[in-house]
Amino acid sequence: MKATTEMVLTDNLKTLNLSHMLRQLEAQLRQAREQSLDYGDFLLSLTEIELEGRAENRLKRRLREAKFPLLKTLETFDYHAAPGLDRRLLHQLASGEYISRHRNIIFLGKSGTGKTHLATGLGVEACRQGTTTRFVTGCGLANELLEARQGLTLSRIINRYARYGLLVLDELGYVPFSKEGAALLFQVLAERHERGSVIITSNLGFADWVQVFGEPTLTAALLDRLTHKAHIVTCDWESYRLKESLQGKNICPSKMVKAPRITVRTNACGGSAPAPPEFIALEANGEAEKEKAG
Ligand code: ADP
Ligand code: MG
Repeated sequence: MKATTEMVLTDNLKTLNLSHMLRQLEAQLRQAREQSLDYGDFLLSLTEIELEGRAENRLKRRLREAKFPLLKTLETFDYHAAPGLDRRLLHQLASGEYISRHRNIIFLGKSGTGKTHLATGLGVEACRQGTTTRFVTGCGLANELLEARQGLTLSRIINRYARYGLLVLDELGYVPFSKEGAALLFQVLAERHERGSVIITSNLGFADWVQVFGEPTLTAALLDRLTHKAHIVTCDWESYRLKESLQGKNICPSKMVKAPRITVRTNACGGSAPAPPEFIALEANGEAEKEKAG
């Protein structure tokens, strides 16, 4: 190819925003010459490079916008550590069918059982499938809504949260909401009802949700919407974190008994929460050692 032709071609690719083709042009031209590719095959290969590059960038953007705290995937989830998990259901959920049907998923269970990992993994799958996704903690969302109300941008924020194809609401229940926070959160979830999917993770059973949302009527209305045709996954196996940290100490998690605590912590959402349960590990020699869960 003549030098002037290559210069104009480079300019044209820049003007047309075909950056992936531009980056690969030289290598592709060389390969075409070496393999005596016909013009059609050469053009096909170049356009495929552009399409793949764009798809990759879109995925990166979706993952960035989702704001996952850690990029956990379903590929790295160890199913042996979650013996009660219905693998077939998870496989079906990973296909994203629940999103097209606007169904919700609720992961319930104690700390460390992989709820956030599973919710993030499904969120990553959704991003791979082209769904706009957003990950936020219950407390984080309540605070964002409360701040937006003060700054008069509330309706914009609620609309934004209504538009995501998938909203992952993590750690609902760790921290109770103020009355206003609970009402605003309800507004977001009501807006999404039957219009978009929500994945929720919580360490509380439904009966205890009233402690988080305060008002029994609001809690009932929220539960009614969220659980309607939802997939509810109970994670009732041992904590992965606890198992890992105990492995080094040669303590078996099944030999642990839950010790009820009455401490109450105050928190950033303006409410107060019972501290997570502590565990007392019964060692082989009979001595009790205190271990903190989660
Ligand atoms: P939860 O949200 O239920 O408290 P997390 O999802 O935060 O639990 O899990 C705690 C840690 O253990 C994370 O680093 C997570 O990746 C890991 N983990 C939990 N379960 C599994 C599993 N079955 N396979 C691989 N890693 C796991
Ligand atoms: Mg979690």
